[in-house]
Amino acid sequence: MKPYLKRAWAEISLGALESNIRNISGLLSDNTELMAVIKADAYGHGEDDILKKLRQCGVKYFAVSNLDEAISVRKHCPDGEILILGYTPPEYAHELEEHNIIQGVLSYDYALELNEQALRKVRCHIKIDTGMGRIGLKFNSPCECADEAEKIIALEKLEAEGLYTHYAVADTPDEDCNSYTEKQTDFIIKTYDELKSRGISLKHLHFLNSAALCHHNNSRSTLARAGIIMYGLFPNYPVPLPIELKPVMSLKAVVSQVKEIHKGDSLSYGRTYCAPCDGIKAATVTVGYADGYSRLLSGKAQVIVRGKRCPVIGRICMDQLMLDVTGADGVQEGDIVTLIGRDGNEEITADELASLYGTIGYEIVCGISKRVPRIYVD
Ligand SMILES: *Cc1c(COP(=O)(O)O)cnc(C)c1O
Repeated sequence: MKPYLKRAWAEISLGALESNIRNISGLLSDNTELMAVIKADAYGHGEDDILKKLRQCGVKYFAVSNLDEAISVRKHCPDGEILILGYTPPEYAHELEEHNIIQGVLSYDYALELNEQALRKVRCHIKIDTGMGRIGLKFNSPCECADEAEKIIALEKLEAEGLYTHYAVADTPDEDCNSYTEKQTDFIIKTYDELKSRGISLKHLHFLNSAALCHHNNSRSTLARAGIIMYGLFPNYPVPLPIELKPVMSLKAVVSQVKEIHKGDSLSYGRTYCAPCDGIKAATVTVGYADGYSRLLSGKAQVIVRGKRCPVIGRICMDQLMLDVTGADGVQEGDIVTLIGRDGNEEITADELASLYGTIGYEIVCGISKRVPRIYVD
């Protein structure tokens, strides 16, 4: 028996990743290169193996959320460009220099501190807050924004190589959101062009995330910072996408016990499930909320056993959950249970699961916990 079959595991299809990269590449303008977003352990898929595959696919730009992730990527990728999208305390300027990492710079004050701590040169991209309201230079006009960016660019120990922004509602295709997104695009491009008219030509200008690449593609963006679509999930499920994607992660576990229960028998904590009649077949499964399969899915989710959808019944426990397998023939101890993924003609995606309890596919895959081994398949 394969050792990972003991309990719960996540299958990561590198073939699906490759297929997604191919289809995403088809969307890119000649002027735009893919910047693979591999923060949060490649959205829970496992940074090392995902990075290796991406490099085989020819990806050269990577984005992460913090310095630890950046250094970890650098270890396996001596040549690629690595951008930290989020905050790095300025005291770590030396590490940025030592590992040749590009830092997102979110304000002039922050730039000053970084400049002060740097020994030689810290490479950076300047983040503009055009409407996300999270981090970045925030001004009423592109002209004022360019003034502030110019001050940052003039700092001796910073090497500014790019300007970027992030969208708030690029994933929502209604009129209001589209016009908000267009305003954001307009602002960042005008800021860039204003700098250019002053004789400052930055190598990079970027603003496309997955949703924008799919719904608001723009050849002015030199990089497309794609995350979720690489992993085969929707930026905003079920809003349709112009490309075909294959989910990269599946989540599987094993049936530990099957028993017949009778009318009135209850299952699990709180006795929220009581058998409505005799002859119900209940199965116990080796996965629970400590694996990242949320307790909020209790009584809501389905899983696939022997090619059939079966409902999760009763409360999901830390390490186990229960199913009604009456509708699936011959379920027995040792059967594989697909919680996310495909079995026969049935498929359950992380997006579908997320929509059951008011979250997004991103949170599901990022939340599959450490104790669940990632098994890489073709
Ligand atoms: C996470 C992130 C992305 C990637 O977003 P997706 O929706 O996964 O494509 C891009 N840019 C920034 C700044 C991010 O934080």
